[in-house]
Amino acid sequence: MDVRKNRDATTGIEGLEPVDDEDFKTLFVTHPTPMWVYDPATLRFLTVNNAAMRLYGYSRDDYDRMTVLDIRPESERDRMRAAVKSRSDLGRPERWQHLKAGGQVMEVLTYGRNVRFNGHDAILAIVTDRTEVNRAYRQASDTRSLLDSIVSSLPIGVFVKDMEDSGRYILYNPACGEIVGFEPNYIIGRTDEYVFVPEQAEQFLEQDRRAMQSAGVFSFEEDVVRSDSSKRTIRTLKRAIPSMDGGPSRYLVGISQDITERRSYEERIAHIAMHDALTGLPNRSFFTHHITTLLAQGAPTRSFALMYIDIDHFKHVNDSMGHPAGDALLVGVAKRLKQLMGPADIVARLGGDEFALILMLDGAARPQIAGLAAAVMNAFATPFDLDGIQEHVDCSVGIALAPDDGDDVNILLRNADLALYAAKADGRSTFRFYDGAMRQIAERRHELTLELRQALASNEFELHYQPLLSLVDDRISGFEALVRWRHPQRGLLAPAEFIPVAEETGLIASLGEWVLRQACLTAAKWPSEIKIAVNLSPSQFKQVGLLATVVSALDEAGLHPSRLELEITETVLLAHSGQNMQLLHALRDLGVRIAMDDFGTGYSSLSYLRSFPFDKIKMDRSFVSGIGIDPGSLAIVKAVIGLGSGFNLTTTAEGVETSDQLARLRREGFGEIQGYLLARPMQENDALAFLANHARGQLAKAS
Ligand code: C2E
Ligand code: MG
Ligand code: MG
Repeated sequence: MDVRKNRDATTGIEGLEPVDDEDFKTLFVTHPTPMWVYDPATLRFLTVNNAAMRLYGYSRDDYDRMTVLDIRPESERDRMRAAVKSRSDLGRPERWQHLKAGGQVMEVLTYGRNVRFNGHDAILAIVTDRTEVNRAYRQASDTRSLLDSIVSSLPIGVFVKDMEDSGRYILYNPACGEIVGFEPNYIIGRTDEYVFVPEQAEQFLEQDRRAMQSAGVFSFEEDVVRSDSSKRTIRTLKRAIPSMDGGPSRYLVGISQDITERRSYEERIAHIAMHDALTGLPNRSFFTHHITTLLAQGAPTRSFALMYIDIDHFKHVNDSMGHPAGDALLVGVAKRLKQLMGPADIVARLGGDEFALILMLDGAARPQIAGLAAAVMNAFATPFDLDGIQEHVDCSVGIALAPDDGDDVNILLRNADLALYAAKADGRSTFRFYDGAMRQIAERRHELTLELRQALASNEFELHYQPLLSLVDDRISGFEALVRWRHPQRGLLAPAEFIPVAEETGLIASLGEWVLRQACLTAAKWPSEIKIAVNLSPSQFKQVGLLATVVSALDEAGLHPSRLELEITETVLLAHSGQNMQLLHALRDLGVRIAMDDFGTGYSSLSYLRSFPFDKIKMDRSFVSGIGIDPGSLAIVKAVIGLGSGFNLTTTAEGVETSDQLARLRREGFGEIQGYLLARPMQENDALAFLANHARGQLAKAS
């Protein structure tokens, strides 16, 4: 029987029972939810509402020809047949795929229930299109799983805690798990208390509190004990996640990174930056930083001795034995100094052959500190083993006391340096405490340096000439050029007042060159048998251009090299590098004469005289004045005469002031004298006049 025969032409719902009320029919037809009634036996549509027609795109006539299988893809049809047979889907929503007239697949949720239609059993199906909703869900779930996989694969630890649930972890990615050595699954759902040791958990909790209390990002660094008991250093950024509704935050997000390697790398770099590579000792940066810290802390750490230690003649070891030996010496010194140090003391290498100590005083007084300095010097008593060679070196020590000698790091360092300078000036191998006078001297020296530079620029120097008398023929054999500084305020200054500073500052190079050129120019105006003597400082030997300067000074003046005599002191030979010796030979090869000045005051070692063929030896004036007073002087006088005849060189006595001295020297056999008895150093014009007078005197004597 065809159940559709009584169908209402417009609604098609005529036969729906028990719904026979007109209003209800209208409700069915116009209800926005797609609905239909079908025959479970034939699966044919009995009636469909407007919404269903709209959704599926079929006309009412189409529906008349169709069964409910026609709106399903092939793959769903068997399931549909089975479902109708068993009525299993009735009463609860079921997911299906349906086809639209155009062939598009829809995801739907159907709800079926038994009804009577035109007196027959029928099924009412109510449909909701879930396509869009499902797509949105799928998208949301895709996004969620994308985020999950991003967070899981991030190489940086990420975690989230629910702070309204005792800080329980709700997210803990694998990278985070690796850092602390726990599986995320173990940690998620637990609190720090459960996972970490109590102190650690308490620390984390405190950090969380801080982060939750304000809006900022907080950074923490700490050592964490891993599950395997190893220690790692982690840096964690924590921040409260702002709540969507502007209320208080509930969640805390953390980002953790294992910085153990980076930290140890940084520590290594910092160590390198603060230590000397050769000896492993702290370097100057470390040292000054340490002093600054001590001074800032206040008593009692403010009370310490700062000792500067300089190896005497270190350059000699380096030059003569090579740099590896020099390095071995520095390492040896470092080792011995370290052995002297107390636990709070510091030994540093400031550079080159300069070491420094900080000795905590603990109320020690000056004599005890002097004892420490003596102990430092004593550490050098036994020779150093430099690759099999036993080398003995000494040191000089300068001491400044904090806070008495300065409560500022720079002042303290400078004062220790001044004390060291004084120790070296006192002949080295000794120690000096800083005192205020050293500073005044240093200031004076500094002023003088500035003035000297200015004086060179404005030509404030002049040469005075002191004659030398040959005792062989009682003729003037030459003059010694002696430099003077006509200081605009202080008048004429003697060399002792400025030569040492010129040597220290290197200004001696320009000054010496000027003296040399000026002396040669003056001598060129004199008779050809008159020589000119020029003093050379040891530091002038360090200049590369000395030989060239001598050649050009002679050239420029047109002076024969044999008329130039260069006076050097033993220190030149003491600095004994082969280089100095080479230079002396080269000068002598030019035809220039070389004289040893101030003989008897320095080391006066015979070996120096043997090491170089000097033309002249000038005995220091202290021995001339000592004749007849000090028996030692006579011994030197006799020794010089012996050397003169032994090495066949001219012997000159300096500083002859009395005719008694002259007579004595003549008797002893000196070849030449220089001194106030003959004449004081004089200006160029006076030297010319002196020469003329003396020649006249000679003539008078001869006639
Ligand atoms: P020096 O080379 O031994 O010069 C001799 C010094 O003894 C000169 O002092 C001279 O004036 C002084 N003198 C000479 N006869 C007598 C005397 O009878 N009695 C006394 N008491 N002194 C006498 P001056 O001119 O003061 O020079 C001192 C030192 O300065 C020189 O000692 C020399 O080492 C150095 N000097 C002078 N001019 C130069 C220079 O141009 N270059 C360098 N590098 N050093 C120089
Ligand atoms: Mg001289
Ligand atoms: Mg002299």
